[in-house]
Amino acid sequence: MTQRLFRRCLLAALCVLGGRCLAQSAPPAPLLLQPAAVFDGQTLHPGWVVLVEGSLIKAAGPAAQVKAPAGARAVPLPGLTLLPGLIEGHSHLLLHPYNETSWDDQVLRESQALRVARATEHARRTLQAGFTTARDLGTEGADYADVGLKQAIEQGIIPGPRLLIATRALVATGCYGPKLSVDVAVPQGAQEVSGPDEIVRAVREQVSRGADVVKVYADYRLTPGGPSVATFSQDELNVLVATARSLGRPVVAHASTPEGMRRAALAGVETIEHGDQGTAEVFKLMKQRGVALCPTVAAGDAILQYRGWRKGQGPEPERITQKKASVAAARRADVALVLGGDVGVFPHGDNARELELLVREYGFTPLDVLRQATSGNARLLHLPDRGQVQSALLADLVAVAGDPTQDVQALRQVRWVMKGGAVVREL
Ligand SMILES: [Zn+2]
Repeated sequence: MTQRLFRRCLLAALCVLGGRCLAQSAPPAPLLLQPAAVFDGQTLHPGWVVLVEGSLIKAAGPAAQVKAPAGARAVPLPGLTLLPGLIEGHSHLLLHPYNETSWDDQVLRESQALRVARATEHARRTLQAGFTTARDLGTEGADYADVGLKQAIEQGIIPGPRLLIATRALVATGCYGPKLSVDVAVPQGAQEVSGPDEIVRAVREQVSRGADVVKVYADYRLTPGGPSVATFSQDELNVLVATARSLGRPVVAHASTPEGMRRAALAGVETIEHGDQGTAEVFKLMKQRGVALCPTVAAGDAILQYRGWRKGQGPEPERITQKKASVAAARRADVALVLGGDVGVFPHGDNARELELLVREYGFTPLDVLRQATSGNARLLHLPDRGQVQSALLADLVAVAGDPTQDVQALRQVRWVMKGGAVVREL
């Protein structure tokens, strides 16, 4: 065997072993992206270009000012607007729409293998839709499956967004679902805990196994279809937040009642999810304590339609009217908003639905929601390496047809996606 042949064989063997070919690991040429305009996370800049080197943005600015190094490859994106990869603030990759299979049946009747297999496809669709990061808020009965899902994406085994995960989430004993007969104990969609000892243990378990955030259900329905009530005591929530914080993890709380929201805000959670019955008083408290609201307007909109609401015909359900009043009160109180739709309740890849609804039915401008889904979410979710088109940040970028700062519908026209400098959706 000649030395060259031997080297080739060795390389081939390493390719197989390493799962990717070493011969292709030479640094790729810098890319000069040439869209019609760049939205940098705050403002639209017609005539800008973006230089990408490796996984990072090297420079962004007017075409005349950004010098491409020798060997750079031009990537024309004619007629398109380039923007930072969108950030989904509230997803459940391990759920699929409830009009396909009810939540109870997903938790009780679907195997974890089936759920994970679906989740890989959900992750792919999310990325293709231009959402390059997602905060995935609980596996809903699929234990720690999100840990492996995140690893598979990070290792390049499957395509998907960068994930912040919450693993199992925490609920007060007896205060979640599914619920069958009182005589039958069934596996729950989250980890049940009561009292400080169990809470401390569970938070440590979840964080040590990979939770980036700790999610708690501060209120929930005691009976199916019944009203939500605050479940954990103030002391329990305080212990939960203190334990997570000492491990360096923020807490997010599901809460829709004023009392659940109030206790969560006092305990020091960073974001409150849903907030359907939020009042001026509780939003004032949230503002004072620096707690953000993730209103998830698309989830209720979808669920009510699954239950028979024919949108556009007949009166608006009271739950929607209340949601609109709550979001308006949050805005009046100047509470920061995380943008996230609770996607999984509705189809993955349809993440833009939340932004569309906020513009069409909740009085936000396209620019408001676009800023929030990029630089705003990055700031509130502690992701300083993304959310803007700026030198030294991650090259997570999306090109859409039209001007999304004027027309939210443009976010449906995703033509090209880059994650970490790699093109994951070609023109
Ligand atoms: Zn959710």
